[in-house]
Amino acid sequence: APRIAVIGAGIAGMAAAIRLRLQGNHVEVFEAGATAGGKLGELVLGEYRFGIGPSLLTMPEYIDELFALAGEMPSEHFRYQRLDTVCRYAWEDGTRLDARADPQAFAHEVEQVLGVPAQRVLKTLAHGEEKYRLTGHTFLEKSLHSSDTWLTPEVGHALTRLHRLDLTRTLHQVHQRDLKEPHLVQLFDRFATYNGSNPYRAPGLLSMIAHFEHGAGAFVPEGGMPAIGRALFDLAERVGVIFHFNTAVAEILTHRDGRRPRAVGLRLQDEREVLLDRVVSNMDVFFTHQRLLPDAPAPTRVLAREKSTSALIFYWGVDRSFPELDVHNIFFSDDYAGEFEALEAGTLCDDPTIYVSISSRYDPSAAPEGGENWFVMINAPFATPEQDWPTLIERTRERVIDKLERMLGSEGSPAGLREAIVEECVFDPTTIEARTLSHLGALYGTSSNDRMAAFMRHPNYSRHIDGLYFCGGSVHPGGGLPLCLLSARIMTDVMARREPWPTHAPS
Ligand code: FAD
Repeated sequence: APRIAVIGAGIAGMAAAIRLRLQGNHVEVFEAGATAGGKLGELVLGEYRFGIGPSLLTMPEYIDELFALAGEMPSEHFRYQRLDTVCRYAWEDGTRLDARADPQAFAHEVEQVLGVPAQRVLKTLAHGEEKYRLTGHTFLEKSLHSSDTWLTPEVGHALTRLHRLDLTRTLHQVHQRDLKEPHLVQLFDRFATYNGSNPYRAPGLLSMIAHFEHGAGAFVPEGGMPAIGRALFDLAERVGVIFHFNTAVAEILTHRDGRRPRAVGLRLQDEREVLLDRVVSNMDVFFTHQRLLPDAPAPTRVLAREKSTSALIFYWGVDRSFPELDVHNIFFSDDYAGEFEALEAGTLCDDPTIYVSISSRYDPSAAPEGGENWFVMINAPFATPEQDWPTLIERTRERVIDKLERMLGSEGSPAGLREAIVEECVFDPTTIEARTLSHLGALYGTSSNDRMAAFMRHPNYSRHIDGLYFCGGSVHPGGGLPLCLLSARIMTDVMARREPWPTHAPS
């Protein structure tokens, strides 16, 4: 059986390893860190536990699929619940809206609170779903770099409905056209940030993201988000994947036998060499080329693409509870366009939108009794050398606390957050780059601000080196947990087509 190395134990690396092992390959994962999960890692501050990165789980069926492939009952190993309220939204003018997952209930709530006819909301969600139905299978579940993807009746049908995809309008223009009411436009515009994009530039096609949250639903895993990484690691071990932790890869070894080079193994940081038949990189594709293949030709145009946004995150252990908050909470900026202008200029605005996620609401073991673990995130630009993060953090921390005190408290009576923070850790884009090894601290690889973005992501294989494949948030079809899981599935399909090998279950 082919011997395959996977570089990185992020969610896509583990999904790829499980799939490849179940096809009968010998699979070894080389991970620089001490644990599996990559961005799904955990941070412990005193008695408080936090998920380092993702806080919102959508499309958990792609996780279940891996257990099912291994012949296991997903719910015996990984359990999650659907949230009834997906997010609690707050604006400075006092408007509050609980967004129910169920589209009818959400539309009804919007009508009550904002006076927008429920029908308008339902039509917008249905239009998002239509865009997903027309394009999702082709653009998110298949390689875009294979001719069979394009020669299908589905693509033919999508072409006849091209006008429905809103490719020539920005997401914001689509929402202004369809929703009109400013609070609601802002609420829907925010979905662009789910893949690190800017609603004032990203194509209207992205309105399908609202459908993921309000049609497909938002979920919380038992044990918090890091439990996803642990569950996949356990599954990978059960099916016979071999893991090497604290084992950074320093180089992908290639051998030129004939016209093209071929990946033949790895050189590890401790200088050991491991010879294998194929290599899959789950490491950020930019760093894979820059650090592991310094002498090989690189797809420079693809690697130079604009990055997605990063984040400034405050992990706060809070010693009391704030009953007015839910699991996911948004405190909107009064100047959303200004917030994105600042991000484009590489800095932070004075009044950023604040996202507060509290996983101890559904996983009480993550905070001591009576306390809460607050993951407080604002959008930040990807890292550039000009930024002065210590100053930006100091200034923004005060602004964030002031805004939350004001919006959670009442006139002249702050909410009492400042004194309640008893543990703190802060990540900025440079920390995110260093901790998660993602280029410039981008959360979702390249941005989707351009309507050609889908075509400009790195493919799931190397065009220059045979036997080298890619999966993860920095390559096709993009970042975010569901797409990373799909990238592993696409990569495995691409490998099977490019290098067929009789598959059988592992013994
Ligand atoms: P990664 O998690 O990036 O892991 C790559 C692995 O490769 C790491 O473990 C790293 O140590 C390893 N590695 C790197 N270099 C080497 C080397 N030389 N040798 C060996 N190993 C190496 N997604 C959502 O769906 N919902 C959210 O709410 C959400 N919020 C987010 C918030 C934050 C703050 C961040 C950072 C991300 C968020 N995302 C969210 C995005 C999501 O976390 C990522 O898209 C996804 O986890 C990326 O997984 P991956 O498989 O690409 O690998």
